[in-house]
Formats: sequence, structure tokens, C-alpha cells
Amino acid sequence: MNNHESALETVEPRSNNRRLVLFPLPFQGHINPMLQLASILYTKGFKIIIIHTDFNSPNQSNYPQFTFRSISDGLSKSKDGSLNLETTNHAINFMNKSCIEPFTVCLAKLLEVEPVTCLISDALWYFTQSVADSLKLKRIVIRTSSMSCIPVYEAFVVGEKSYFKTAIKEELALMTEKDIEKVYKGGSEKGKEELICNMIKETKAASGIIFNTFKELEEPAFLAISQDFQIPSFPIGPFHKYFPASSSSLLEQDRSSILWLDKQPVSSVVYVSFGSIAQMGEAEFTEMAWGLANSKQRFLWVVRPGSVSGSQWLESLPKGFKEEVGERGCIVKWAPQQEVLAHQAIGCFWTHNGWNSTLESICEGVPMICSPCSYDQPINARYATDVWKIGVMMDKKMKREETGISIKCIMEKEGSEMRERSKSLQEKVNQSMQKGGSAYQSLDDLVDCILSFSCVM
Ligand code: UDP
Repeated sequence: MNNHESALETVEPRSNNRRLVLFPLPFQGHINPMLQLASILYTKGFKIIIIHTDFNSPNQSNYPQFTFRSISDGLSKSKDGSLNLETTNHAINFMNKSCIEPFTVCLAKLLEVEPVTCLISDALWYFTQSVADSLKLKRIVIRTSSMSCIPVYEAFVVGEKSYFKTAIKEELALMTEKDIEKVYKGGSEKGKEELICNMIKETKAASGIIFNTFKELEEPAFLAISQDFQIPSFPIGPFHKYFPASSSSLLEQDRSSILWLDKQPVSSVVYVSFGSIAQMGEAEFTEMAWGLANSKQRFLWVVRPGSVSGSQWLESLPKGFKEEVGERGCIVKWAPQQEVLAHQAIGCFWTHNGWNSTLESICEGVPMICSPCSYDQPINARYATDVWKIGVMMDKKMKREETGISIKCIMEKEGSEMRERSKSLQEKVNQSMQKGGSAYQSLDDLVDCILSFSCVM
């Protein structure tokens, strides 16, 4: 825990005798914020029950204060945790059907024992709205991406009929054709429309939306969503400022990366990570490797096992690469990312702009090299480069020579101005979480909102 404990109780919280059921989507970028939210609400006096799928089940031993119930998802036997973007849409749509029965049974059983005040589910668990309705239980959704991606998604999904006329114009004006192509078609187009449509529709039917962001960062989107969804929005984030993501990590974090960083000069290291899902081909991996080598910068590179197609881990590293970079580079399977970004040796973050990574970078005042793949990532990246001006766009498919020059340029020239702007954004985050700040107030509003619901048995 860190300095923002001040917004929360530091001793064992006084229970308000209200039970909440939380249902995370079983992917790293969704599990982290949901379990952080659970810890925040626990500190506010709520009893927490987590329903989770067998697939990617969270590490319960890190949360002795919560009750866990697992349900079968129909996926576990055939998947090994290394889903790529193409299969993720299908997996989520599939689980939205396969989990209906086990989830309903599990929730109904819980209600038989003790009353529950509210269900908090990931917005991508769209099937849960009708389950909650059938049990007369209020449902609040947690949206683990940026607020700004909602108007963009809405534009693609409902087009002309969208309620987001004004917002669309502003948000879309920012986006290039290439960005739009990536949001809509990147990874796999199949199943994406079904997923986004259902997510938007069932979010509108919920009783509130919790966002892992703060109002000042995305004010236009906040205003548009508050108006058009007609349900309260609670931007109470960044959650990791209250509780780190390390306890909900599905992979073991290699702490040797911190020891390696301890030996590097201040602001000298490029941290490279593309999150928990993104995959790349061998050719792309080779260009990235030579790009990093050509930049002549120090780097800490997270290469997730299975993230390079056809390779277990580093077999695709080009010949001569290790000799070329020597002590200048460190490659790990998974890193304690928040701690890495907070380390004084980090100079910039080459990221896919998953929302957690983007927020974690903002909170540590680290400028970004943005190479988004799909979903909300191109939108987050466009905000980082064009609105907050704390990042530069770089196509991951770029050739090694250009990549090397770009990285060098960011580390040596452009980086310092971006770093200054990043630091001032970091200040804004801190202010919003202090008493009187917007995130602090939103958290109070969320607690009041939940306490206003009647309990259901
Ligand atoms: N992460 C980590 N170690 C790593 C890489 C990532 O702990 O080596 C964490 C990171 O801090 C973030 C999450 O994994 O909280 C990734 O979420 P994000 O939304 O950035 O991307 P996704 O994995 O959903 O694409």
C-alpha cells in the first residue's frame, strides 16, 4: 500500500454488514483492477465475495479477507492461458453463454445464505445483467478501459443512431484511419461486434459504471457518458495507487529485473512490454530485437512465454543479438511492472497501451513509445500522443533501422519535454486522490450509491 491509504481506513475496517459479489473477467488486465477494487471496497467496510471462473483463477492465498467461489467456464480443459487476440473475442462471447447457468446457480446459493447488496461485474460479462434482474439484484459494472474508448466503440457499433453525436466528432477527429482500422479490425474482427454491442447495451441497463481513471484525465468522455448513459459514472481510479497489482499477478514476477535496474544510471532504460495477451510473429520479433540493439540504449524487455508465435520463449532471438547487446539488455518473462515503472533508471516505456499499462506509466511520470495493437489500445495511444502529449507513436511493424533511430531520439531528445508533461500529469493524479479531489469524491459517491440499494435475499 502507498501514500493514498490516507483516503481509506488503515486499520481493520468497521463492517457495514453489506455483502458485495464481484465477478472479474479472467484476463490479467481485468483481474488486476477488479481485485484492487475489491480491496478498496473492503477497506470501506463491505464484505467481499469473488465469483471467478476456473480459467485463470486468482491466487486466493493473497486475499484471506475475501470469500471465493469458483464456477466452471467450459474453457479450462482446452485453453492453456496463452489466448491471443483472435481467440479472446471468441472466448469471452463463449463464456458469456457457458457461464450463465453456473453463475446463476452460484449467485442464487449465496443469496440463500445471507443478503447481498449489489453485484459488481466486469462490463464484458454482459450476460450478468439479466441474471441480476432475474434475482432483483442491482448490478454495477466496472469498465477496465479508458472512458474515452466508449464513445469510439459506440460510434462503430451503432453508427448514425448513436447518442454520442458531439462526443463522436471530438473523439473521432483525433483518430487516424489507421487507428480506426486497428480498433475495429485489429486482432480478429470476428466476434468483436457482438462483444462490443452487448457490452454497451448491458452497461446502459446497469445501475452505475466504475472507471479505473480520474475525471480530469478524460473530462469530455466523462461528460458525454454521464449524459448519454443516464446512470452514474464513478471514475475513482487509478486503483493501483491504493493497492498494487502484484498480488493478483497470474504469472510470477521476476524480481531480478529490479536488481538489474538498480545498477543502471537514472532515466537510461527503455522498458518494453506488450501486456498479457498481445502476440507477435517471428519476423516482427526479430525487427524489434534489432531495433532495440540499433538504438544503443539500455533496455528491460518483457517477453511473455508463448507471445512469439511458434516459440516457447526466446528461441526466435536472432543470431548475434545477445553478443551485440551484452550487459545493455535484460530480458525477463514477466516483471513487477509497477515497481519497474517507478524505478529511477526507467527513461521511457515502449508499450502496447493497454489501459492498465497506460495508467501505470502516467502515475509514474514515464513517457511512452506507443505501439498499440487493437481494442482500446489505439485510442489510449492517441490520447497519450496527441492530447496529453506524453508519448510518440511508433509502428511495431517498422523496420529495425527506423525503430533504432526513433528510440534513440526519444531517449536523448524528445523525452525530456514529455517527461516534464508526464510529471505534471502525475501531480494531477495525486491531487485527484486527495481529500477534495475528484477521484476521492467519486469513491465516496460510489459507497453512498451502494449503501442506498436494498439488500436482496
Ligand atoms: N504486467 C505485469 N508484468 C509484466 C507485464 C504486465 O505485472 O511484465 C501487468 C501490468 O502492470 C498491468 C497488466 O499486467 O497491470 C496488463 O494490463 P494492460 O491493461 O496494460 O494490458 P493487457 O494485458 O490487458 O493487454
